[in-house]
Amino acid sequence: MDATQQHIDLTERYAAHNYHPLPVVIASGEGAWVTDVDGRRYLDCLAGYSALNFGHCHPRLLARAERQLRTLTLTSRAFYNDQLGPFAEALSGLTGKSMMLPMNSGAEAVETALKLSRKWGYRVKGVPEGKARIVVMEGNFHGRTTTIVSFSNDVDARNDYAPFTPGFTMVKYGDVDALRGAMGPDVVAVLLEPIQGEGGVLIPPAGYLREVRALCDEHGALMVADEIQSGLARTGRTFACDHEDVVPDVYVLGKALGGGLYPVSAVAADADVLGVITPGTHGSTFGGNPLAAAIGHEVVAMLATGEFQQRSAELGERLDAGLRQSLGHGLEEVRSRGLWAGLDIDPTLMTGREFCERLMEQGVLAKEAHGQTVRLAPPLVATVEDIDVLIEACTTVAQH
Ligand SMILES: *Cc1c(COP(=O)(O)O)cnc(C)c1O
Repeated sequence: MDATQQHIDLTERYAAHNYHPLPVVIASGEGAWVTDVDGRRYLDCLAGYSALNFGHCHPRLLARAERQLRTLTLTSRAFYNDQLGPFAEALSGLTGKSMMLPMNSGAEAVETALKLSRKWGYRVKGVPEGKARIVVMEGNFHGRTTTIVSFSNDVDARNDYAPFTPGFTMVKYGDVDALRGAMGPDVVAVLLEPIQGEGGVLIPPAGYLREVRALCDEHGALMVADEIQSGLARTGRTFACDHEDVVPDVYVLGKALGGGLYPVSAVAADADVLGVITPGTHGSTFGGNPLAAAIGHEVVAMLATGEFQQRSAELGERLDAGLRQSLGHGLEEVRSRGLWAGLDIDPTLMTGREFCERLMEQGVLAKEAHGQTVRLAPPLVATVEDIDVLIEACTTVAQH
């Protein structure tokens, strides 16, 4: 039996089946490329769902992490450490928000934003205790906790996990009138992804984010942007909201904030919002630990030059143009922003899963978002040649 099959068998035998991976066992990675246990190389076009915006084992991130690993890794927030303050200051520079609250996983940051919104609603907006409502979007993906799946409309994510947390109203994504109809004095926040990633890289109609901003202002609700997947240069700008010059009240960040090395997430907001959080009212053993803060700080420093945002925009244009050649020839629709694309595969030809299996045979790894949609998110360190490899592989699979 080859090494690949051995690892697959072992994983399926001893690890719960909460994923359905492609049959590839990755052993090492460098930049945009990974190598499997049998020595085959693949272009990684999932990039850890955008956690690997800087590619695998980026030397600058590795150096910073290694240095911090040998110095100090965990203090708990019972004490101060010398990494969190500088990281928080740098993140404030990137987001324009005066404060941040550090957590680990994306779902934890979303949970933090939900608790923050409710508390702000009671303490600042004056919503009667227990009455706060948060408006969310159909097709959303914000993570896997019981509260977060309570407001998902994905049956796989939700089924069998009831009873659900109340206090959420779901409206159609991209529909301003639907959102307007859901607003009211009890609404403390509107939570949305500025582009729905797991939904299939769904880009709302032009002007939608501005309308959301305006409705939040009109009704005194917080606009909470989950930029966990869309943020940190993925779309060619620092944040996906930047494409409409919209500034939300709360940014929810994760994934690439940890440089693909470590889970680092955060909520960023101004002090008039985040200031409602007081000692003992929220926390995490690992949140804001010195290793996470050192890595997050380096990520923010790398984003400060705008180099990755520009790469994403330029390579994204090339990818988009290349993919569009297959429109009507295997691809029904291509949606992209920066180096992030959703492809709708012609259902008479194959499923999204089959498309990904064939891409794998071409040396490209990607993952279907659901059904007929494939998401492409190569690391932003990919070269022009890498993008051409990706276009060529997609063309081959789509048109043959
Ligand atoms: C991945 C993701 C999350 C959840 O992050 P985890 O680190 O997996 O908990 C939340 N929101 C969005 C938009 C995501 O893409």
